[in-house]
Amino acid sequence: MARAFLYAIVGGGVAAGYAADEFVKRGVSRGDLCIISEEPVAPYERPALSKGYLNPEAPARLPSFHCCVGTNGERLAPEWYKEHGIELFLGTRVISADVTRKTLLIATGETIIYKYLIVATGARALKLEEFGINGSDAANVCYLRDLADAEKLVKVMQSCTGKTAVVIGGGYIGMECAASLVINNLNVTMVFPDSHCMSRLFTPKIARYYEEFYQSKGVKFIKGTALTSFDFNSDGKVTAVNLKNGSKVPTDMVVIGIGARPNTALFEGQLTMEKGGIKVNSIFQSSNTSLFAIGDVAAFPVVTVAGETTTTRLEHVDFARKSARHAVAAIMNPEKTNEFDYLPFFYSRVFTLSWQFYGVNEGEVVHFGDFSGKTLGAYWVYKGRLVGSFLEGGTKEQYEAIAHATRVKPMVEDLGELEKQGLGFALSLNQKTPSLERPPFNAWNSTAGAIVAAAFMAAFAFRYGTRRGRR
Ligand SMILES: Cc1cc2nc3c(=O)[nH]c(=O)nc-3n(C[C@H](O)[C@H](O)[C@H](O)COP(=O)(O)OP(=O)(O)OC[C@H]3O[C@@H](n4cnc5c(N)ncnc54)[C@H](O)[C@@H]3O)c2cc1C
Repeated sequence: MARAFLYAIVGGGVAAGYAADEFVKRGVSRGDLCIISEEPVAPYERPALSKGYLNPEAPARLPSFHCCVGTNGERLAPEWYKEHGIELFLGTRVISADVTRKTLLIATGETIIYKYLIVATGARALKLEEFGINGSDAANVCYLRDLADAEKLVKVMQSCTGKTAVVIGGGYIGMECAASLVINNLNVTMVFPDSHCMSRLFTPKIARYYEEFYQSKGVKFIKGTALTSFDFNSDGKVTAVNLKNGSKVPTDMVVIGIGARPNTALFEGQLTMEKGGIKVNSIFQSSNTSLFAIGDVAAFPVVTVAGETTTTRLEHVDFARKSARHAVAAIMNPEKTNEFDYLPFFYSRVFTLSWQFYGVNEGEVVHFGDFSGKTLGAYWVYKGRLVGSFLEGGTKEQYEAIAHATRVKPMVEDLGELEKQGLGFALSLNQKTPSLERPPFNAWNSTAGAIVAAAFMAAFAFRYGTRRGRR
């Protein structure tokens, strides 16, 4: 059987949820839009899986974190889609796509015919087997990408209370999971090949702050080495991890956070690919003009700090949300849609800590604040201009100020003076610029130009395996 839709979205994650919201805001007609998702639930805010979902008390559970609660928007529960005449094919994988004929074959055997297709297939967690290590299927080895992974992680974690866990990987997933494991009363050891955690973003000084905080909570770090194999018991459960440095760490459970790879397989050979994703232009249109790609899977054009245009990919929720809204605007109101102009924004929350980062971490670093206290940060200055800002423990006003400062990219003549002023530099800049001239905080179509260091961006998120050259 074939069904026809004006608009189809493949994938039902963050980007799909925000795209649906934007379609409705722009007046999509009932019956014109469908979303086909392999996951059995309506689009949700994926970052919740490594945060509230893992809380030992009052954990977040659906429907509480459906899109778009992450931006204080309406919570789009399944009924919302029904109310707006949007067809949700849940638990339904798209098996194949033909971009010339504009058709999708879905797992039910049905064919979906579309006029415009939005690809929002996200990324999948890299498996150990891709690095030649077996054991991903063991009952006490966990990954964290989707709801099913999160459910397994919670079960395993609860069965190991008071026992030990090894976390492989020192990126976002590793850091957030390690914190949750501690909060759930496990003794945690983190293993990663870099010299410090979050090495794509954190300076050694910033990393030391977080590592010391983790150590104060009992976390042990084994750095500069990697997993080589597991020991198993007769039930097939992992009992220890073996490391490249020759050591063995006994454990009751393992969490793997070694990076992600975009889900592009449906379109390989049919679309232009770059940086591991689907290459799109500044309105998220691919090499096939009827097909748009958004979120983790989109490789989009940016201007580097050196002023060159290049292509990059971001695996961050803010980009997923904003790229989704922009692509829908471009499809429904092409004449009124400008080029995507984006200030990169990442955040994380672990234990009682919370940080935000804006821009790019290129150039010279100037740290500020109290590294033995609660509020600290860093600016990155490239060729005399402020291009990146990091802040831990800020207030709403302070985060707005660093975002604004990074967006306007002020000249910085004296790094020593910048260090002395610290957060005051961004705060006073914020006050000096009349609010009418300022783009709204977190606006999805900011007016000031954003510059992106592609080398950093393409490599940053969720990875520990760069030296292995895998993506
Ligand atoms: C645990 C976790 C915590 C995170 N925390 C943060 C954070 O704190 N800050 C931050 O900035 N970012 C964070 N991120 C990253 C952020 O969630 C992603 O960048 C974002 O989800 C990307 O949105 P997306 O829609 O492109 O992909 P996803 O949200 O991954 O959605 C992709 C969807 O497509 C579906 N799909 C794939 N292939 C098919 C197919 N063939 N047929 C049908 N459906 C298919 C998938 O099942 C999935 O539902 C986190 C990610 C994870 C996994």
